[in-house]
Amino acid sequence: MKRAIYPGSFDPVTNGHLDVIERARKLFDEVIVAVAHNDQKQALFSLEERLELLKTSIGNIDNVRIAQFDGLLVEFAAAQSASAVVRGLRAVSDFEFEFQMALMNRKLNSDVETIFLMPKEEYTYLSSRIIKEIARLGGDVSSFVPDVVAKALGNKFKR
Ligand code: ADP
Repeated sequence: MKRAIYPGSFDPVTNGHLDVIERARKLFDEVIVAVAHNDQKQALFSLEERLELLKTSIGNIDNVRIAQFDGLLVEFAAAQSASAVVRGLRAVSDFEFEFQMALMNRKLNSDVETIFLMPKEEYTYLSSRIIKEIARLGGDVSSFVPDVVAKALGNKFKR
């Protein structure tokens, strides 16, 4: 059983995240989408909201599971018997941070391999941060995120 963890803040989930999940689930028997709990970043959506938006966006796919985690990612991966961590790489700008994280995680647990997946080109400029910024300013985000997320953003930034 090859299991992978796809960790992140998912604040909120975008079509870019869904693209990575779709690619990862073809490579692994099971993918656990793991929402970080103890995020240093100030999240717009609560942990419960982020989990719920993911659940609705992904729907019922038999080899994708949604979970939450706090503490060290490699410990969560080991507890779930996962052999890989999946991360998305959009641009060179992602590389430095991701490279550092991957090597640090390898130091912490050499049994867990980090795998990078590139999304479809049209998603390479998408980030949760930019989506929140557009929504905050009243822009239309409906082609970048699932419908439920567009609605939830609309409610957060009701004018
Ligand atoms: P984090 O706060 O850990 O960066 P995010 O929710 O922003 O969490 O992203 C989780 C993972 O998904 C990261 O590996 C990030 O690079 C990747 N990701 C985010 N947006 C995209 C996208 N548009 N295309 C591909 N990967 C993405």
